[in-house]
Amino acid sequence: MKHLIIGAGAAGISAARTILKERAEDTVTIVSEDREVYSRCMLHRFISGERSAESINFINDGLLSCPRLDWIRGKTITRLDAAEKAVYAGDEKIASGDTVIIAAGANSVTPPIGELKTAKNAFGLRHLSDARSIAEAAGTAQRIAVIGAGLVGLDAADGLIELGERRGKRFDITVVEMAETALAINMDSRAALSYQRLFEERGVQFYLGRKVVNTAGGGGFISALELDTGAAVPCDMVIMAVGVRPAIGFLAGSGVNTGRAVTVDGKLQTNIPGIYAVGDAAGLSGIWPNAQKQGEVAAKNICGWDLPYEDRFAVKNTVNFFNLLTLSVGAFTPQEGDEVLTREDRNNYQKLILRNGAPAGVILQGNIAGSGFWQHLIKNKIRIDKLGKPAWKVSYADFYGVEQNGEYKWVV
Ligand SMILES: Cc1cc2nc3c(=O)[nH]c(=O)nc-3n(C[C@H](O)[C@H](O)[C@H](O)COP(=O)(O)OP(=O)(O)OC[C@H]3O[C@@H](n4cnc5c(N)ncnc54)[C@H](O)[C@@H]3O)c2cc1C
Repeated sequence: MKHLIIGAGAAGISAARTILKERAEDTVTIVSEDREVYSRCMLHRFISGERSAESINFINDGLLSCPRLDWIRGKTITRLDAAEKAVYAGDEKIASGDTVIIAAGANSVTPPIGELKTAKNAFGLRHLSDARSIAEAAGTAQRIAVIGAGLVGLDAADGLIELGERRGKRFDITVVEMAETALAINMDSRAALSYQRLFEERGVQFYLGRKVVNTAGGGGFISALELDTGAAVPCDMVIMAVGVRPAIGFLAGSGVNTGRAVTVDGKLQTNIPGIYAVGDAAGLSGIWPNAQKQGEVAAKNICGWDLPYEDRFAVKNTVNFFNLLTLSVGAFTPQEGDEVLTREDRNNYQKLILRNGAPAGVILQGNIAGSGFWQHLIKNKIRIDKLGKPAWKVSYADFYGVEQNGEYKWVV
C-alpha cells in the first residue's frame, strides 16, 4: 500500500516512522511546506544563535534516507481530493495514496488589530522561517514587544535575552498579556509568578491583564502598541504569540469534516474512511509528545490495529526557563469540593488537587522527581484517601504488588 502524509512535523514524522516499521512492503510519501525537519520547541534556541537549523532537526536515525520514503518538501498543498486521496498545489497534483494522514499542524494567529497583519516588523513564532525573520530583525531592533505571555511568547523573550547576552547587549523586551498571569494555560499563578520574576530579573517588563487595542507607526512598520489603558509600548519589532489555528484551509470543500480543527473519532479517523488527522491539525491537544503519540496511533490503526487514542490530559506540560523546571499534569484550578494541598521551600513549589479522594492535578516546580507516579494516579483516577497517610507521603510503594514471575505490577 501507498500512504500519504501531509506534514513533516512531530505528528507526520512519527506516523511515517510507524508505518515503515509496521509494514515492510508499504511506501510512504510525505508532503510538506517545510523544507527542513525541526523541533518547534527549540525555535528559541535558533533565535538565540545557540542552535543551527541542522541541530534542531529531531530525526537522528536516518529515517529520511529510507528507500520506501519519499519526502516532497517545500510544497504548499491547497486542496485535498478525498475521493482520489490526492493532494494538489494549485492545479498541480503533488501526490496520492491509499490512505491519508493529515498532520499539517497549525499557524500563528494574527490578531486583527491595527497594522499587525501587514507590518513588516511583526512576526508570529511557529515556523523556522518566523525564527529566521525574528533573528534577522533583532540585528537592528532594540525595543521588542511580545504580545502573549504563554509558552511561545516567553520562548521568544528567552531566545532574545540569550541572543542579547551573546552579543553583549540587552534588548528592551516588553510582554503584554490579556490574562492576569503569565503562562495562564500552563500552570497556576503561584508557579507562573516564579517565571515572571526570573524574566523581570533579566530586564523584561510585563503588562498583565492588558489588551493591545491598536498600533502606531507608518511606512509598513509598527513603532508602538497602544494598550487599553491608553499606555503606549514603543517598539522596533513585534512578536505575536496569542495562539494558533489548525492549518487546515486546504480541506475546504474536500468533504472532510472540520470545526476549528479536523474532526476525528476515537481512533483518529475522519468521517472519510482511510483519512486520519493527528497532531495540532486535529486540535486534541497542542503539545509535542501528544502529536507524536497521535501520529503513531493513527499509523498503527491504518496498519490494522484497533487502538483508541487515550492520552487526553487537559494539561500536561513541562516548562523550563532559566533552569527552573515545572511539570503540570491535569487540573491546576480547583473545583468546588476539591481539596488543595500545597507545600514550598526556597527552591520548590508543589500543589496537589484531590477530587473525590483521587489526585486530579499536580504541579511540581523545582524538583520534579516522582512526576510519572502522579501522572499515573491522575490518569487512572486512583484514590489515595483510603491509604491512611498524608497525600505527599504516598509513593509507588503503596501500590505495587509482585507477579508470580517476579515482575512488579500496580495494585489498586
Ligand atoms: C515556539 C514553540 C514552542 C513550543 N514549545 C513546546 C514545548 O516546549 N513542549 C511541547 O510539548 N510543545 C511545544 N510546542 C508545540 C509543539 O511544537 C506542537 O504541538 C507540535 O509541533 C505539533 O506537531 P504537528 O506535527 O501536529 O504540527 P507541526 O509541527 O506544526 O507540523 C506541521 C507540518 O505540516 C506542514 N504543513 C502545514 N500546512 C501545509 C500545507 N498546506 N501543505 C503542506 N504542508 C503543510 C508544515 O510545513 C509542517 O511540516 C511549541 C510550539 C512552538 C511554535
